[in-house]
Amino acid sequence: MTRVTLDSRLDGVVGARTAKPLARAFDVHTVGELLMHLPRRYSRRGELTPLRGLPSGEQITVVAQVLDVRERQMQRRRGSILEARITDGEGSLTLTFFNQSWRIRELVPGRRGIFAGKVSDYRGQLQLQHPEYELFDDRDDAPGGEKLDEAAAKAWAETPVPIYPATAQMPSWTVQKSIGLVLDALGEVPDPLPADVLRSEGIAPLGRALEFVHRPQHEADYREARRSLLFREAFELQLALLDRRRRAEGEASTPRPIPADGGGPLARFDAALPFELTGDQRRAGETIAAELARPHPMHRLLQGEVGSGKTLVALRAMLQVAGGDGQSALLAPTEVLAAQHFRSVVEALGPDLAAELNPVLLTGRMPAAERKRALLSIASGNARIAVGTHALLGENVSFYDLGLIVVDEQHRFGVEQRETLRRKGSAPHVLAMTATPIPRTVALTAFGDLEVTTIRELPPGRLGIETFAVPELEMPNRAARVWARAREDIAAGRQVYVVCPAISAGVREAGDEEPEAAPDTEGGDSPSRPLATVEGTVAELRGRPDFAGVAIEGLHGAMPGPEKDRVMRAFAAGEIAVLVATTVIEVGVNVPNATIMIVRDADRFGISQLHQLRGRVGRGSHAGLCLLMTAAEQGSVARERIDAIAATSDGFALAEVDLELRREGDILGTAQSGGRSTLRLLRVAEHGELIEHAREVAGALLDRDPELGSAPGLAALLAREHEAGLLDNLAKS
Ligand code: ADP
Ligand code: MG
Repeated sequence: MTRVTLDSRLDGVVGARTAKPLARAFDVHTVGELLMHLPRRYSRRGELTPLRGLPSGEQITVVAQVLDVRERQMQRRRGSILEARITDGEGSLTLTFFNQSWRIRELVPGRRGIFAGKVSDYRGQLQLQHPEYELFDDRDDAPGGEKLDEAAAKAWAETPVPIYPATAQMPSWTVQKSIGLVLDALGEVPDPLPADVLRSEGIAPLGRALEFVHRPQHEADYREARRSLLFREAFELQLALLDRRRRAEGEASTPRPIPADGGGPLARFDAALPFELTGDQRRAGETIAAELARPHPMHRLLQGEVGSGKTLVALRAMLQVAGGDGQSALLAPTEVLAAQHFRSVVEALGPDLAAELNPVLLTGRMPAAERKRALLSIASGNARIAVGTHALLGENVSFYDLGLIVVDEQHRFGVEQRETLRRKGSAPHVLAMTATPIPRTVALTAFGDLEVTTIRELPPGRLGIETFAVPELEMPNRAARVWARAREDIAAGRQVYVVCPAISAGVREAGDEEPEAAPDTEGGDSPSRPLATVEGTVAELRGRPDFAGVAIEGLHGAMPGPEKDRVMRAFAAGEIAVLVATTVIEVGVNVPNATIMIVRDADRFGISQLHQLRGRVGRGSHAGLCLLMTAAEQGSVARERIDAIAATSDGFALAEVDLELRREGDILGTAQSGGRSTLRLLRVAEHGELIEHAREVAGALLDRDPELGSAPGLAALLAREHEAGLLDNLAKS
């Protein structure tokens, strides 16, 4: 038999009949993949329990002796019941088995063993139905065996039992059995980590870790195993991210310095700017300007509060590149946002610069002729700025000289999409932006190949946003006031957003998800209360006498592109007073005259979503007001979320709260939850310090040995990960 390694195909080891359903259930095809199908948790067979005073309904393990056994036919159905009484000398208990007569040969009176199961009460008699048991060998009952029994029993009872993620076709015990086969067949496992890293981290070698994570004898075994695997995961991930970054940095790209003579589009733009840059904008701008001037590509994540003026920082970078004869692409996650970016770019440039730089918009839903014109303009280099959606990634899009890629709302895109765009230029600079504040460890994990710049300062003159929770059940009067308050602002010439979780009855916005902890239906008053909808709310508001004559329109993702665009334009132009929308307006939408954000069923949104939504108001010279309507009860997690948002406007603090309230590290997006998860043990919410540490260790190794010649296992791993696009799954959502 050939030696079994981590790369061996499973069918050769466990047989095709087992390999196939394993592949179907968990997408595992090799020995290594199966061994990385880790137990979700471990259960213990239980503490040893005396037979007297057994608690009904509990999982117990007892050491006892078989007292007597009898079998009888069932009265109403066909079949037999085997009943064995066991005793520990004090109490007794009945074991029952249906149609398992053969056990009569095993459960011989006088034999001792250990029995585990759940105690049930059948007509006043305690019993275990179909318990697990293991009978001691006769020789255990040799003189002195009393002690031996105890020890053996204790060991058996305390051996952790791995519980695997399972499906109906692949129950946990089948997985366990297959893994056992694989571990038995597996030769020595070479450890990809260099010996000195193993030593300095004090972690178990890979082979031992795999054995112990699946077949622990003691709790300490799997703890040791998991610690080793966890470090490996963090380390390999950071190594891959750092390696990617270093390789990208090593590439040559065209430097786009600001002209020394002080001319160029950026200088002209700055001269015409109607306001001063904030300190943070200036600092971020300087960093970026210096990097654009270097002969290597920039990879920077610009994160900052909603309304902190990131777009302006990006536009200035685009102008610098335009001054160096390069083109820039601004990638936005939605059509609404792309169209708005395009309008605000044109507006900010002013007529002269706009005519010179010829910005174009490219989206998937544009009429063919318009699209063709945009494509031509991009290909000829005539357009120095292209704003668009995923359409920019299309094969038919080619740039004359792509110098800078700006990705807005980075968290909505995967690394792979950024890469696709990057390949359209020769090592272009990349500036990713996000208004979703990301705790540092998340940034390291999801965007570990990017340097991070943070803008905290808001432009001056912002009057801020006040946020209130409006608990509809507890304070119906306040809920009623919401609409009157909106009406007052409308009378004063302001505009209002109303955001609903659903488009129409039962139809949610595409891509919207339930937040982690919602809905809190248990204990909730009316769990089946229908969600507020865009269509329902539009009708409701139009029907209100006090809203007579107020222009109210709906906006959601299921509307045709041109219609969405028309509504958004009309709202931006002030022709619509109330925009009732789904989260399509969550990011980036900028209408400074809008002052009130009302969110219905706010508990149906996540923290960062609500924070984003709130950022849509208070962007101009009028104070913003955010009213979060909810029927969630006080004390529920849903309410906790809403109260947290009402209590602080600091997005970074909220991001931390968000992280705490989430159970799992799903911050990296839904890519993880579908199918096989990319992160196994690592939880960004929990393992911040480990991630930082692993990054340092990985960085030190790459400093020492950039090509990883001393760690061929890791080099191979990186090569494979790049191929499999492991990293690309990470940031996708
Ligand atoms: P972000 O993209 O970070 O959410 P934007 O770039 O859309 O923020 O800026 C929000 C608004 O603030 C825009 O109307 C923009 O013109 C304005 N703005 C940006 N920087 C400043 C500044 N330094 N002073 C005053 N207003 C600014
Ligand atoms: Mg923005």
